[in-house]
Amino acid sequence: MRLTHQSFDLRLRDPWAISGTSASGGGKRIHPVVFVQLEDAQGRRGIGEASPSSQYQEDVHSVSRYLARVDASRLSFDALADSSAYLDSIQPFSPPARCALDLALLDGAARSAGVPVYEFLGLGFSEGRHVTSFSLGIDTPEVMARKAAAAVAAGMGLLKVKVGVPGDRENLSALMTAAPGVPIRVDANAAWSDREMALRHIEWLASTGRVEFVEQPMPPSLPDADWIWLKERSPLPLIGDELYQTADDAPRCARCVHGVNVKLVKTGGLTPALRALRTARELGLKTMLGCMIESSLLITAAAHLADLTDYLDLDGNLLISNDPFIGVQCVGGRLGFDGVPDRYGLRVTHCGLDGSVFQANVPT
Ligand SMILES: [Mg+2]
Repeated sequence: MRLTHQSFDLRLRDPWAISGTSASGGGKRIHPVVFVQLEDAQGRRGIGEASPSSQYQEDVHSVSRYLARVDASRLSFDALADSSAYLDSIQPFSPPARCALDLALLDGAARSAGVPVYEFLGLGFSEGRHVTSFSLGIDTPEVMARKAAAAVAAGMGLLKVKVGVPGDRENLSALMTAAPGVPIRVDANAAWSDREMALRHIEWLASTGRVEFVEQPMPPSLPDADWIWLKERSPLPLIGDELYQTADDAPRCARCVHGVNVKLVKTGGLTPALRALRTARELGLKTMLGCMIESSLLITAAAHLADLTDYLDLDGNLLISNDPFIGVQCVGGRLGFDGVPDRYGLRVTHCGLDGSVFQANVPT
């Protein structure tokens, strides 16, 4: 097996800021990712993507360090369990790097079997059922209102809004006026430092009558007692994101929140994300699939698990202007594979990357 990888700067359509990053600095404009390709001696190929996030102390260097330690001869499209166990053993561990290789292995294996990944994993994909929210980063009330109106005009019927700054209420009020009747999900990215503060904010959000749920209101480092206190009193469902990195966190989340946000980049790929979704469901948690800033490669990979979710937030590819891949389609917020040219594997087609290490991925 031959492993090649290449870092790539995804360009954001608009500057992006969340709680804990500098909204006043205008937000970030570039998000570096790493694309990988595995090719075996028979010429079979699979591709993957790592989207490292500073929220989890990852960057392209930590991803590259992990990839440099990989002995590709221990990876095989025909021995996924052994390959997966080997990836778990590599130190220092890097979930986004592991994710990229997990995607490439499944892409190659499913392509070799002549089926899409969702079928290879024993899942289906319910066309027409999966609606994603569209995310708005923290900005001024005017800019957030303008972006919300533009999203609604483009057919998005569900918005997810980042909060966690002093101007939250002004931001949300402006946005709600600009997007009348549209349901809103709120993500605090752990911004509210104690349970009383979190409850005050959530009660105000509930009073608007527009908010569906609140994601990660408090830091994951707070004790369970604080989370249980908030869960008992919250008028809105609570979804754990930073609180839920892998399936191992499911028992704690079942005590502390109503649902969890699974991301391929946090868990380490489709294989562990599948486990994270199933474990959460077994414990009665609502499930959500989320993303980072990502190309259509990672977003499409996540979409293969959509049938195991209650909520989708797979819009990272809609936030960038130089997506090098074509995959799952988003029409009016609805994700679907109808008409996607590539029928097998991840169903992702490479559509041009200057100087790329990738060969053209001819639709099959
Ligand atoms: Mg979140």
